Amino acid sequence: MSKQKLGLNTICTHVGEIIDEQFKGSVSPIYMSTSYQFDDVDVKRYPRYFNTPNQEYLSKKIAALEHTEAGMIFGSGMAAVSTVFLAFLKAGDHIVVQNTLYGGTSNFIREEFPKYGIEFTFTDGYEVSDFESAIQPNTKLIHIETPSNPLLTITDIKGVADLAKSKGVLTTIDNTFASPVNQNPIDFGIDIVIHSATKYLGGHSDILAGAVACSNAHMEVIWNVAKNLGGSLSDFTVWMLERSMKTLALRVKAQNRNAKKMAKFLSEHQDVKKVFYPGLKTHPQYELAKSQMKGFGGMLSFELVDGLDAMQFQKELKLIKSSMSLAGVESTVLSPHKTSHSLLTQKERDSIGVTDNLIRFSVGIESKQDLINDIEQAIAKIKKKQLISK
Ligand code: PLP
Repeated sequence: MSKQKLGLNTICTHVGEIIDEQFKGSVSPIYMSTSYQFDDVDVKRYPRYFNTPNQEYLSKKIAALEHTEAGMIFGSGMAAVSTVFLAFLKAGDHIVVQNTLYGGTSNFIREEFPKYGIEFTFTDGYEVSDFESAIQPNTKLIHIETPSNPLLTITDIKGVADLAKSKGVLTTIDNTFASPVNQNPIDFGIDIVIHSATKYLGGHSDILAGAVACSNAHMEVIWNVAKNLGGSLSDFTVWMLERSMKTLALRVKAQNRNAKKMAKFLSEHQDVKKVFYPGLKTHPQYELAKSQMKGFGGMLSFELVDGLDAMQFQKELKLIKSSMSLAGVESTVLSPHKTSHSLLTQKERDSIGVTDNLIRFSVGIESKQDLINDIEQAIAKIKKKQLISK
């Protein structure tokens, strides 16, 4: 079966399945063994070598979805991020990272890199020129994240990849927010794609996992460090992830559609001040997003008008849950100033546009009207409460 010729849903459903030769079951069997024959075998298998049957086969699905040769499944998104960075950076090297970055990645860099003598620069913004001005003679890696969390800014993937290539620098991207359904950075020249598979790949808020996709040559470098760091995923969870990924494209496309409708509804609402969604024509980088994304994703952020309390609003929601994570089939909201950006000062948050009134909305697959009704009733309740308290 040639992977290139398969459609997206077929890749999600079938690539990387293990054929059950013994009992002819229709889904992959789970191989929970932590111990395999060591002599007279082509591959010495061990879960921490990332090469049990379930690990090896699911990696093929990740690679096919990201249009590249090799994949690897990790115990968490941060295991994937930290392993990739440590695979390509050593004492004296320098990395350029985007300033709008997932908090855990940013903490890893700030807290751990000084211990290893690895230098880093956070860019001032997310324009290609911001990356260019941060490059130093010892820069080995540029890491980007687009769309960004929580303001959905868009980084020019090809622009950054071209810049890095011209300077002989490797590029990595955190593709979690977009998912491989909406964005394939390797097609734009990025070297290594990283996912928190806890999000869209898992999609049901019940799996903690990470994934990496890249060329065989880069994967060999990553594997050599990965087996030392030991961040592999249990085969049961690998199997759960394979099951979840069968519906990846169906789920993400439904979330794209719902998010676009929610963005439109919110942007036309009299009690909403601002909406941040790359699929809105009013988004300053709509054209750039359109040129590198196949769908605009299921994540958006918005601010209620001054005087309406964002925390109170979230408490009044009945269907949409208040939740730390994102990308499940259920819709969720959170306040970035209380979560991902709580370690920044008020001034720092204000300077990057993460106001106390900002609400991040991870749009699920529910019926559009039910989501609208929930938002309307929550706004009506807080307005009424605020009137009474005046
Ligand atoms: N990257 C992004 C964009 C994330 O949102 C997260 C988690 O929220 C991570 C990486 C880290 O992933 P994990 O929590 O699976 O370790």
